[in-house]
Amino acid sequence: MTTRIHVAKALTPNEHWSAWFDENPTLAFAGESLSEAVDGLLEIAQLDSATLNVDLSQCNKGEVVFIHDGKTCQDCDGTGRYIGLYKVAKCDACGGSGWV
Ligand SMILES: [Zn+2]
Repeated sequence: MTTRIHVAKALTPNEHWSAWFDENPTLAFAGESLSEAVDGLLEIAQLDSATLNVDLSQCNKGEVVFIHDGKTCQDCDGTGRYIGLYKVAKCDACGGSGWV
């Protein structure tokens, strides 16, 4: 499955970078640089950074968009969630991204 990762520089005094998934913006990571934000997002989602390519057609001023080619998580069927008897939690297998 192909997904996109957005990375944007905040217009706040600390000017940190935020990275999030196109389909799941609630799973995000912030860092002091673009690479720190993307690396952190990929780490919590347990994805490999070697499969990233820049999507130039989607990039805007202050925002870079990457394409990640991965496989849908079999444990959660791509939802990123584990639904148990008493609670809904982030899927352990994919870290909540829905991809592996
Ligand atoms: Zn999963």
